[in-house]
Amino acid sequence: MDIQQNLQQVQQQIQQACQQANRTISEVSLLAVSKTKSVEAILHAYQAGQRQFGENYVQEGVEKIQHFEGQNVDLEWHFIGPLQSNKSRLVAEHFDWMQTLDRAKIADRLNDQRPHYKKPLNVLIQINISDESSKSGIQPAEMLDLAKHIKNLPHLCLRGLMAIPAPTDDIHQQKQAFMQMQQLFEQLQRALPECQIDTLSMGMSNDLTAAIECGSTMVRIGTAIFGARDYSK
Ligand SMILES: *Cc1c(COP(=O)(O)O)cnc(C)c1O
Repeated sequence: MDIQQNLQQVQQQIQQACQQANRTISEVSLLAVSKTKSVEAILHAYQAGQRQFGENYVQEGVEKIQHFEGQNVDLEWHFIGPLQSNKSRLVAEHFDWMQTLDRAKIADRLNDQRPHYKKPLNVLIQINISDESSKSGIQPAEMLDLAKHIKNLPHLCLRGLMAIPAPTDDIHQQKQAFMQMQQLFEQLQRALPECQIDTLSMGMSNDLTAAIECGSTMVRIGTAIFGARDYSK
């Protein structure tokens, strides 16, 4: 497992997708999804130049964040999993970004629990773009109400939208969902010009090309960087 080589390959894929879409590579950042992976693997990625990491499980993420505290590394941590309200404090206290915000109640808790000596917590609203009843995220029609609610919370900074569309290998279906997200993103930018709405988090290992074509500014990649996950432990 050569993490450095994997990262280079993913960067190349991003570069190609940007070229096809007439976009510059600096418009698309890479979030390395390190859930279930060791701090050694994260350190390897860091040494290869990676700075942004995503975690799905609160406790596991906090342990890793604390491991690197005081080590003179400038890592940026994104929470990308479903969040139960009783765990919100850990996210508010330790993470830099929270990408899966889908309830006003959680927004209020994060705002109350964010330490005031830290910068506001960057948040993305998660949209349930494929309308699967089992998945988290809000319906597109609910976006503006939640966004306006978040805007008034001083310890949160609304930065944009995130989605996990239903997985499909059909690039047309991939694009359909991503284009809807792009429209919602532009709608949000128009509705809240006073906010720094600059982040559209969409695209994973098998659909990043379509996502970048549709305006993604952040792709979230795990397996292609760190290898397959082992959930048996
Ligand atoms: C696990 C995960 C990813 C990365 O998935 P891979 O298939 O390993 O690239 C991206 N986004 C979210 C929200 C995830 O939970």
